[in-house]
Amino acid sequence: MRSRFFSVRAAWMVFLVLGLTGLCGSASAQENRTRVVTTLFPLYDFAGNIGQDKIDLSLLLPPGVEPHAFDPKPSDIARIAQAEVFIYTGNAMEPWAARIVKGVGNPRLRVVDASRGIALMKMEGDEAGTGHVKGEQAHHHRDHALEGVDPHIWLDFANSQQIVDTIADALVLARPADERLLRQNAEAYKEKLRALDAGFATEVSKCPKREFIHAGHYAFGYLARRYHLTYVAAQGFVPDSEPTAKQLAALARQVRSRGLKVVFYEELVEPRTARTVAKETGAELLMLHGAHNLSRQDFDKGTTFIGIMQDNLAHLKRGLGCQP
Ligand SMILES: [Zn+2]
Repeated sequence: MRSRFFSVRAAWMVFLVLGLTGLCGSASAQENRTRVVTTLFPLYDFAGNIGQDKIDLSLLLPPGVEPHAFDPKPSDIARIAQAEVFIYTGNAMEPWAARIVKGVGNPRLRVVDASRGIALMKMEGDEAGTGHVKGEQAHHHRDHALEGVDPHIWLDFANSQQIVDTIADALVLARPADERLLRQNAEAYKEKLRALDAGFATEVSKCPKREFIHAGHYAFGYLARRYHLTYVAAQGFVPDSEPTAKQLAALARQVRSRGLKVVFYEELVEPRTARTVAKETGAELLMLHGAHNLSRQDFDKGTTFIGIMQDNLAHLKRGLGCQP
């Protein structure tokens, strides 16, 4: 008797909860929003600035997760399948995306490759401003065809503006009635990115040094190229190979011989390498945040892409010998 009573009550509870959720959903403006899923944080922040309250936005990567090692779970695939717009960085960053999109079988899903129209940097290029890296062993789990291609396109703010346009195009297709508003929002946000870019160019050009050393993976090649800086990283395009003692010694030698006062470390990864090199050389440790993803704390605080980059500029100036 007792157990039956409970099971009947449990069934009612489920019924009630489902009913209420349904009611709330239809009563709010939620229903009229376009469901948008993005992979990395910059895409999430850009889409949020463009779509604002017209979209129901979610970030696929849980806060704190290292994005290069991300492998979507069935629940992630279900989220993509239920979205109307799915925005990913590109096949170099998310080699799994194309396969998953094909598999979800949702013909109404708009798939946005944010790298569309952007020329990807190659590692072997000797263009001014790109550092070198011994990262051959770092790409083992990536597509062979994409080996040696730098996926960190959002760290060139001209690219970022192009990504904003690409996302705006997709949102306009999804919500043609809101075209004017979406384009206005995109323009306003691009203006902020232009100001950010101009700030970097002006401030960096005033600093006496043109070189920086990053004890993390090679994420800042685009940024270095844009502001005519030389950049050396401890690892390849993905943060999965611990540098050897020999590589650590080489980094420390470089810091000393160039008279650098700062060693940079990256977000979301324990900065063991940076700490070792800093200890060895007496250099200061500062973060240069790649903005792939945020920590849970930063996410909850409402940290923005532009805010992260402004902190980066302050740190970079210090590293390039500008005071403070
Ligand atoms: Zn990266």
